Amino acid sequence: MENITKKYNNGEITIVWKPAVCIHSTKCFRSLPNVFDPRKRPWITPAGTETNQIIEQINQCPSGALSYFKNEMSLPQAVEAIKINTRQYAKRQMTWFRNRMKDWNWRENADLSNIIAFTTENIA
Ligand code: SF4
Repeated sequence: MENITKKYNNGEITIVWKPAVCIHSTKCFRSLPNVFDPRKRPWITPAGTETNQIIEQINQCPSGALSYFKNEMSLPQAVEAIKINTRQYAKRQMTWFRNRMKDWNWRENADLSNIIAFTTENIA
């Protein structure tokens, strides 16, 4: 159950719920029962409620079990953004390692581009 992530979409945002993180504070379904109702399946039904109201409620989740992302990108755009961000992250990590591990014997000709390319190509 630890890695289970459930997603619920209303067209504008996708609500993400991680059951293993939920501490059952009851905050969500006491405050916004038309969206969060543990007696129903699925227990989160965002259709018909203002997105801003849902976001406000999600931001009050004390455990972080609830989160959301806005549905603003197409899948190809998201894949491209992930590739760019992953490449930039890998480069920042290498800079960090080189600055911290100055006594290491770095292989100056090490070509990380294959590793980065493999990683980013396998995201899609
Ligand atoms: S507010 Fe968060 S922690 Fe509380 S019941 Fe809802 S999802 Fe679980």
